[in-house]
Amino acid sequence: MRQIIAGNWKMFGRLAGVTAYAEVIKAAPSHVSLLICPPFTLLDRFATALKGSGIALGAQDCHATPEGAHTGDIAAPMLAEAGATHVILGHSERRENHGETNAVVKAKAEAAQTAGLIPIICVGETDAQRDAGEAEHVVRTQLAHSLPANFAGIIAYEPVWAIGTGRTPTEADVTAMHTAIRAALAAQLGTTGQSINILYGGSVKPGNAASLLALPEVGGALVGGASLKAEDLLAIAAAAPHR
Ligand code: PEP
Repeated sequence: MRQIIAGNWKMFGRLAGVTAYAEVIKAAPSHVSLLICPPFTLLDRFATALKGSGIALGAQDCHATPEGAHTGDIAAPMLAEAGATHVILGHSERRENHGETNAVVKAKAEAAQTAGLIPIICVGETDAQRDAGEAEHVVRTQLAHSLPANFAGIIAYEPVWAIGTGRTPTEADVTAMHTAIRAALAAQLGTTGQSINILYGGSVKPGNAASLLALPEVGGALVGGASLKAEDLLAIAAAAPHR
């Protein structure tokens, strides 16, 4: 399975930096798929800068309906029109800061797929849930209720406590969780569940990428902070094993 290295710029980045960043990441190795998810305002500029490069473009959220009176929201068809092919949904920062439930994430994923976008659904436990021994149960519940029946996207396992903290789970914990996610996807989606990329996210850096990406069932990485520097994202992509 070809690994996917996805950069999540969150609410960072300005128009002025897009072209130079795009030129650097075009040097990405061909054994991985690269995907950049900038703020909405940068999508169109990125689409122009990345044209013909094979690097994909994603957004960080969408509404569950294709249009309507929803001030401040963005619809999936609008993202597709701006050049996005993917959309991150259910990131823990949205679950936490915007009260997004599994049901909301599922409705958004349905809207994304209807618009032809590939949803990247984020799941992951908090520190307290891991300490209580509930990590796998939490993630299985999120998968059971956030994925549409016809889900054909990507999963990102992002332990909430590892995001932006510099902390990462042990290799054994990542392997155990990704194996559990694969089993859940296969049970839920049948053969489709066998071929879904399961990304790891949470403090991935050039220094730890090789060991994380080499783990079984790790189908790539969702990279936050380190993706803001093009050279760091390139180094992470270069660290992916040739499978
Ligand atoms: C993220 O927000 O998706 C993320 C993984 O962030 P970071 O790499 O900064 O931990």
